[in-house]
Amino acid sequence: MKYSEYMKMVEDMRQAASKFYALRYQMSNGGNLSVRIPGKDWMLVKGTDVAFDEVGPDTVVITDFDGNIIQGELRPSKEALLHGAIYKEVAGAGAIMHCHSPYATAWAAGHRELQFATHHSEMKLKGVVPVFDTHSYAVPKEYFPQIIKFFKDNPGANAFLLKGHGQVTVGKNMREAAYLAELVEETAQISVFSQSHVD
Ligand SMILES: [Zn+2]
Repeated sequence: MKYSEYMKMVEDMRQAASKFYALRYQMSNGGNLSVRIPGKDWMLVKGTDVAFDEVGPDTVVITDFDGNIIQGELRPSKEALLHGAIYKEVAGAGAIMHCHSPYATAWAAGHRELQFATHHSEMKLKGVVPVFDTHSYAVPKEYFPQIIKFFKDNPGANAFLLKGHGQVTVGKNMREAAYLAELVEETAQISVFSQSHVD
């Protein structure tokens, strides 16, 4: 990988994370985002305890899909193992956004899936956004198989919610993963608002 390609990937992550912090989709130092490194079983991933407004060249690391550090000073985010498992098993996954955005997280508290508030979201989110209850602040390994099964059973699926936690989206690149996460949050917000207006 050329240095310029590497820096472009870091910049894509920085822009997405910075935007999500400004939108208050991810406050404090939680959440995670990552990008698959082309041609390798490696990913570029946010360091642990790094806030979204601190993402940049010094706060991301390169790891393999099992979270082992290839390059960088920090430990990878606790969610890196889930991201690695998705990259291993979902061929089209080029980038992953995970954030604790408020409406998506609120919706996940009391539902088994995200309902579709708009035709746009139904089209873009491929008709299914399930809620997984993984009983932890970071998804434990024993829940990876059911998440991978969801992607295998639903080709083109690109998002899921985590009860008591947040949302995860999968795109071909960081820009797409971030747009999907914004759409999930928008859809969850509209779903919350529309509940009092359904016949
Ligand atoms: Zn999280």
